[in-house]
Amino acid sequence: MKKSTVIAMDGPAASGKSTVARLLAKKLSIPCVNTGSMYRALGGLALEKGLNLDEEANLLAEFSKVEICYGRRGLEGDYELMLNAVAADEQKLRSVEIAGAASRIARLRGIRAFLVQAQRACASAGWVVMEGRDIGTVIFPDAAYKFFVTASPMVRARRRMAENGGGTQEELERTAAAIAERDRQDAERPVAPLKQAKDAILVDTSDLTIEEVVNLLYYQVKEAVC
Ligand code: C5P
Repeated sequence: MKKSTVIAMDGPAASGKSTVARLLAKKLSIPCVNTGSMYRALGGLALEKGLNLDEEANLLAEFSKVEICYGRRGLEGDYELMLNAVAADEQKLRSVEIAGAASRIARLRGIRAFLVQAQRACASAGWVVMEGRDIGTVIFPDAAYKFFVTASPMVRARRRMAENGGGTQEELERTAAAIAERDRQDAERPVAPLKQAKDAILVDTSDLTIEEVVNLLYYQVKEAVC
């Protein structure tokens, strides 16, 4: 087995990977890191300041005024996103607009470089589940375990709708279109695109419950971690 203590979980939007990552980490009693929250925080800030989402230099000038990192409440706690030493309100970052802005700025090389160190720092204290788009390919290419979590586009749109309390057929179609656009943008960008690492295990969650997915992954890693 490799020496790394990272369990990398990548996959497209609304694939269920955040929920699975959180529950898997809990079952293993190790912390979880959601790297999407960093891109969302910066995307939200860019929208708030009315910045052009394509102008890397201006974005970086604004972002470098913010201290962005992950912090833990004690050795048992999960990693929380910290902005200027204050825990971010991650619920506020969940909107479709912020997700779109996050994906736009995530295309830019300088923005990704700005965040790499804070993400890698989370692996210094032992086992961690880290989820995002490029964890197994770029952030931790030597991760001990790599999972690529996906589901069919319609299943993903339905899950996202259910999370938001349901909606009409028209809303479902709008949600599916927004997810497809974000996936296209994330997969087609030249820098750290969304893709399955060659040595990642593909987990299609379309016909599985969350519990089934968590158990599936748990049995793959538990011997090494526990
Ligand atoms: O995972 P989440 O949907 O919160 O991520 C929001 C956006 O942040 C993604 O659509 C993607 O563009 C970007 N992201 C990324 N690399 C990561 C995590 C997220 O590019 N490791």
